Amino acid sequence: MEDMHVPPALRGLPHIVVLGAGFAGLTFCRKFKGRARITLVDKQNHHLFQPLLYQVAMAALSAPEIAAPARSIFRKRRNIVVLMDSAEAIDLKEREVRLTEHTLGYDYLVCAMGGVKTYFGNDQWEQFAPALKTLEDAMRMRRHLLTSFEKAETESDVGEQRRLMTIVIVGGGPTGVELAGSMAELTRKVFRSDFRRIDPTTARIVLVHSGDRILQEYPEDLSESAKQQLQSLGVEIVFNQRVVDVQCDHVKLSGGETIETRNVLWGAGVRANPITRSVADCCGIELARGGRVPVDADLSLGSCGYPEVFFVGDIAAINDDDGEPVPGVAPAAIQMGKHAAELIQNRLDRQHARSAGPEANEPFRYWDKGMMATIGRKRAVAWTGDIPLIRGLKMKGFPAWFAWLFVHIAYLIGFRNRVMVLLSWVYAYVTFRRGARIIISPEADTVDRDALTTSVKVPADRSDLEPQPA
Ligand SMILES: Cc1cc2nc3c(=O)[nH]c(=O)nc-3n(C[C@H](O)[C@H](O)[C@H](O)COP(=O)(O)OP(=O)(O)OC[C@H]3O[C@@H](n4cnc5c(N)ncnc54)[C@H](O)[C@@H]3O)c2cc1C
Repeated sequence: MEDMHVPPALRGLPHIVVLGAGFAGLTFCRKFKGRARITLVDKQNHHLFQPLLYQVAMAALSAPEIAAPARSIFRKRRNIVVLMDSAEAIDLKEREVRLTEHTLGYDYLVCAMGGVKTYFGNDQWEQFAPALKTLEDAMRMRRHLLTSFEKAETESDVGEQRRLMTIVIVGGGPTGVELAGSMAELTRKVFRSDFRRIDPTTARIVLVHSGDRILQEYPEDLSESAKQQLQSLGVEIVFNQRVVDVQCDHVKLSGGETIETRNVLWGAGVRANPITRSVADCCGIELARGGRVPVDADLSLGSCGYPEVFFVGDIAAINDDDGEPVPGVAPAAIQMGKHAAELIQNRLDRQHARSAGPEANEPFRYWDKGMMATIGRKRAVAWTGDIPLIRGLKMKGFPAWFAWLFVHIAYLIGFRNRVMVLLSWVYAYVTFRRGARIIISPEADTVDRDALTTSVKVPADRSDLEPQPA
């Protein structure tokens, strides 16, 4: 893989390997303008705009609208080679990354592999409670929910019909809140005139949160507003309770309650990519909360003897100026990717004696641009963080929703995606309909297909309907 595959024009240049084409890795590649060749490795062939994943899951957007092929993003950057492969191990001492197909040597390594979903040691719940991290996850969630309502329409058993029309969302963070709000709109507004035998507006939507307020990271009054906005859409919120068991037809809560449901959506946990374990062992360091790698102030592992290795984005642990952990959000990942790019470029420029520039180990400083979460049409909360002129501004309802729309369009990668998403939103706003509601391959639904299909009976008055094969 090494030299023989390197285009002649790039031979002899320092080699930077970037693992992950998420917000941090992508920003690194876009911002790095130095003399080096870059190999960008991602197990997917696309950059994914994760903040809009829930809209794919809720049939508001289709998958290609929130993703862009990494290869096409860098088609004009001749010094960037894109590889679709998975990083299996990092050998810091040998300066090598082992992929499934090749081993890559590097002069600089930028590790930006983000996080993975976690069920807190209960991986068996995943089969009944899909989480959101990839496009496949979102498609699976969407297929499962749409299939449940189709099955409810043909179900004659009232109890089973209720289970199919009950949705339990686990986790009151931004993902859980956005899923709950969007699900409420889907059932109350979008589905309402589409079904004949069931009334989708009576679907039960329950948000289970282990703390005493949702959106715990937000200012308290915004949490309260989010709660009220969700409740106004008919979402039930259960506070101070954990989910202690998930089965195909029910969830159990720590308070003892059992909720019968066929639809559990997991919005509760993300932890750093497991590759961090071997890195910590090699460096003799403890991993930080969530399995993140504690990095030096410049984002490198310099103090462990590896100043050429950088960890950026959700996989890295570093504190802000107030001593608080930098949150796992897209703006932080973008800022870290940019910082690493400037720093490595600066070091390489110095090697070429072309710049006196700032110190090569300049510390990373996180700029908090605030937070926003949407709850539904004209419903959202937003807080502007440290943005000058509007510092600390809190918004609720329509202004927050409008700001949310603007920011998400602005940050989407690719002109086509921006136009398509904008058109989809305008269509949905005007018509109260969602375009992406086609169920593709319902038989491929692996969530709880057996449990769902074996219980489907032919309703007495619809004997023309055949039960689905199990
Ligand atoms: C559902 C959801 C909603 C979110 N909503 C918001 C929001 O509203 N606002 C906000 O600011 N943040 C939000 N976030 C968080 C935000 O998406 C992350 O903070 C951000 O994506 C982190 O960027 P990253 O580059 O560190 O990692 P990621 O964007 O996760 O990118 C990691 C990349 O590494 C690749 N990768 C992983 N493992 C390997 C491997 N072994 N080999 C090769 N490649 C690999 C992945 O395919 C991926 O492309 C949300 C996250 C999720 C999951």
